[in-house]
Amino acid sequence: MAWRDIMCGELRAGDAGRRVTVAGWADTRRDHGGLVFVDLRDHTGKVQLVINPEHSSTAAETAHEIRNEFVLQATGDVVARTPELVNPNLPTGQIEVQVDELEILSRSTPLPFQLDEEHVEETLRLRYRWLDMRTERMQRNLRLNHTAISAIRRVMDERGFVDVWTPSMTRGTPEGARDFLTPVRLQPGKFYALAQSPQLFKQLCMVGGIDRYYQIATCWRDEDLRADRQFEFRQLDLEMAFIEREDVLDVMEACVVGAFEAAGVEPPRRPFPRLTYADAMLRYGSDKPDLRFGLEIQDATEVTRDSEFGVFKNAPCVRYVVVPQTFSRSEQTRLEEVAKEWGAKGLANLTQISKFLSERELQAFGVEEGSTALFVADEEAVVARVLGLLRLHLAHELDLIDTSLDVFHWVTDFPLFELSEEFGGWTFMHHPFTAAVSGQEERIEADPEHARGQHYDLIWNGWELGSGSIRIHQAEVQQAVFRVMGMGEEEQRDKFGFLLEALQMGAPPHGGFAMGIDRFIALLAREPDIRQVTAFPKIASGADPLTGAPTPYPDESLRELGLRLLDPQPE
Ligand code: ASP
Repeated sequence: MAWRDIMCGELRAGDAGRRVTVAGWADTRRDHGGLVFVDLRDHTGKVQLVINPEHSSTAAETAHEIRNEFVLQATGDVVARTPELVNPNLPTGQIEVQVDELEILSRSTPLPFQLDEEHVEETLRLRYRWLDMRTERMQRNLRLNHTAISAIRRVMDERGFVDVWTPSMTRGTPEGARDFLTPVRLQPGKFYALAQSPQLFKQLCMVGGIDRYYQIATCWRDEDLRADRQFEFRQLDLEMAFIEREDVLDVMEACVVGAFEAAGVEPPRRPFPRLTYADAMLRYGSDKPDLRFGLEIQDATEVTRDSEFGVFKNAPCVRYVVVPQTFSRSEQTRLEEVAKEWGAKGLANLTQISKFLSERELQAFGVEEGSTALFVADEEAVVARVLGLLRLHLAHELDLIDTSLDVFHWVTDFPLFELSEEFGGWTFMHHPFTAAVSGQEERIEADPEHARGQHYDLIWNGWELGSGSIRIHQAEVQQAVFRVMGMGEEEQRDKFGFLLEALQMGAPPHGGFAMGIDRFIALLAREPDIRQVTAFPKIASGADPLTGAPTPYPDESLRELGLRLLDPQPE
């Protein structure tokens, strides 16, 4: 006997007269003493069951026992509802099933929350994820996840990409986060790192002649958990040999559009617009600007060089945004306070400082009646950061963002290095395997500040979806980058000897990309965070409320691994 011969949500008016068997969860039960109505639910929808003691007294007896989320199997005749009982809000609302055989397949204890309850506390949802998963929202999100990934796999397959599995347990990869460590019983005192990404393995695949690699790869990074971060997450990871940047961008755009189409969402138009890093920082004060609104930052440094206004004259950089609105004194003070929290010395409003400015300056700023120009004067990096944050803050506050838009764009031409206080010198902007712009290899060591990298990021509505680059494929150039980062010959050999060797044995030119798949799907599902599209995520404390992990281990297990806790956790 089949458990069911049709899904609950599939029954329509045309099925009237059919005898069917359905199975699923009791969504609601209305017991009218004699008649019992049950909405039976599976992932396709709900159908109303009517259990009438006049049709079957055994079924009626069983029906009285039913509580929410019991699992039922029901057999009966599909009948059309009388017009006044039609429920126009349900696709199955024109019919009901008059049940004469009813079986409780499984019972449920009273529920910690009802499935239709709004605002259930998230830890509780995650503690009982198997219940939460039955909600329409989670069903939709997990299925969308699958739909999008299947579409991406199709695109990759059509383009000849080969799915190669790479190890999770490996050496640390420098993706800029802390590693998760795995002790090894057979090698006490030594650790594998869980891969932060398959970066080096995919490059080795290129040296190995794979040409077009991809993987929906799980990555592990020990970072604080946030809306868009979990300890473990998946990337659409790809790498291609004998290609240019354009080839990589083309594949990625095809994946994005393919996933949108499969999800039934209007896809963004191709090719996605591009911004250079320098332009993004100048005009939007961010390397991942949200382009759904204007509020572009304007530069005033040239015009204010000889200003009478000391704050402008003495600052290496002066920029401003024009906001289509005026602010009261208290609003202005509040904005200034926020700007100071971001590191600004102040936030000048043009109307308040205009008496110090020359005609030439005032003319250059050309602010219309009813608008406000807000200035920051400081080091360039501070000005960009503060105005970038202010731009976003005002857009949210003044409701300037058209949330129906999906704006994708590329940011290209990043600097190869940035100064890091943590390392006390130059460090990579993307990762140390990114190639310099062709012809700038000399600059790597001679002028690291001005060396540009062949690095590109993909941005969706101000979220960085992923990064990629054309890689270094010559060992000498790779070593030059390591040297700039302060890595001596010995450290290079120790950490990356295998890569340097591979680069010396016929490495083709190559490049690739990795996109955070979970983040992409969360945005596609219009969800605020990746937990809503992840089956079993962890909460911000780093714990898993469902299994109770992480858990302490007994001393014997640790000893076997050659480990002893410094500060034993009181249990
Ligand atoms: N491995 C890089 C990352 O995880 C992406 C790439 O360069 O392909 O960000």
